Amino acid sequence: MHSMARRETDIFISGGGIAGLVAALSFASSGFQVVLADPTPPALDMTDSTSDLRSTAFLQPARALLENAGLWDGLACHATPLETLRVIDLDGDPPVQKTERAFYASELNQPAFGWNLPNWLTRKHLIEAATKASGLELRLGTAFEKILTREGEALVKLDDGTRLSARLAIAADGRNSPLRQAVGIPVETARYGQKALAFAVSHPVAHGNVSTELYLEGGAFVLVPLPDHDGQPASAVVWMQNGPEAARLSKLDNIAFGAAASVRSACVLGELTPISPRRVWPVVTQCADSLIGERVALIAEAAHVMPPIGAQGLNTSLADVQSLVELAQISPGMLGNAEFLTAYEKSRHTDIRARAKVIDAYNRICKSNAPPVQALRRTGLQLVHDILPLRQAIMRAGMGQ
Ligand SMILES: Cc1cc2nc3c(=O)[nH]c(=O)nc-3n(C[C@H](O)[C@H](O)[C@H](O)COP(=O)(O)OP(=O)(O)OC[C@H]3O[C@@H](n4cnc5c(N)ncnc54)[C@H](O)[C@@H]3O)c2cc1C
Repeated sequence: MHSMARRETDIFISGGGIAGLVAALSFASSGFQVVLADPTPPALDMTDSTSDLRSTAFLQPARALLENAGLWDGLACHATPLETLRVIDLDGDPPVQKTERAFYASELNQPAFGWNLPNWLTRKHLIEAATKASGLELRLGTAFEKILTREGEALVKLDDGTRLSARLAIAADGRNSPLRQAVGIPVETARYGQKALAFAVSHPVAHGNVSTELYLEGGAFVLVPLPDHDGQPASAVVWMQNGPEAARLSKLDNIAFGAAASVRSACVLGELTPISPRRVWPVVTQCADSLIGERVALIAEAAHVMPPIGAQGLNTSLADVQSLVELAQISPGMLGNAEFLTAYEKSRHTDIRARAKVIDAYNRICKSNAPPVQALRRTGLQLVHDILPLRQAIMRAGMGQ
């Protein structure tokens, strides 16, 4: 690469999803120069065709990271606190309720387990903050194209011809990460033959800030509270199903789809009315063989993908960001060098593998249709709930503490 038109920066970030944007804003607010590129312009509302219809429960540590970067205040008014988790086991066709257990954040003296925000809205807010942040250059509509690294720098080329020299290049460009592929870090992927349908619904019964997980063979159906929509209570839904059934459901018209979702939810919140388009996501567990390469760090889904249960995915991602930012604050001069990157890998490796393992096992149990496994799940749920110390330990672990 030619050095003539090359621009220097501390950090280059490929990918402006939630993880990439939070990383960019956190580094910029710690005084680093950041350039972030992403080819996808942000969605302006939920019905936008590029809108990310997933919603994320930000757990306590993730909220703290957003607070430290001065980002929480702008998001707080859109966040729905998750005060109670209700877990219901269903059985039969049409599904009927077998057991129900509730977990209360107040038992842990916490105001909430987490705060739920629609992804498109979070991303829109973060982009607004990023356009105003000093030391941060946003290149929306521009993709990362090539990278060449040496001991002292990463040389990056964007698809608009821009050339950059960075001390650290961060891959935050999703599960098929072009930056990860460009530096040749392999991944290990486990598939379950499942897909997750993500969409939003309104319903006549108030959710009361309760998140409801409904288990049935095939996978989980999760209703997460959202703010009211046109004066009606509303929830974000993640519906996991085997591949062919998910494909069939995704093609139904809105009325038939609403009816199918209502049946699957055993009408715990009454009839569900879809209020957004549907998006289908493959359900996989995927871990990169390494979190680092020369002058390169992988974060978020570029490093690890988990099935969308237990609100672990993005929270694990934000823990990656937290770790990188802390290391950079402690020794800014080492940013991106081998020692810095080894420390990053060391601080994140065990936690990522442990979370991926637990979620993988949990998902295999939840989707199983083998009666002994179903019975085990039910007994397990009862046990966890009914033994107070165990329940509190699991709740604490789930909250990322
Ligand atoms: C249905 C569902 C529900 C979920 N719910 C939760 C939850 O409740 N809690 C939780 O913690 N997690 C949840 N997750 C996981 C969470 O959404 C992900 O972990 C998170 O969105 C990953 O973010 P990311 O920034 O790594 O990837 P993405 O959001 O995929 O962002 C990657 C970005 O990279 C960009 N990009 C692609 N190519 C290039 C290129 N060449 N150059 C530059 N940029 C590029 C893309 O345009 C995109 O904007 C859920 C996941 C699913 C599927």
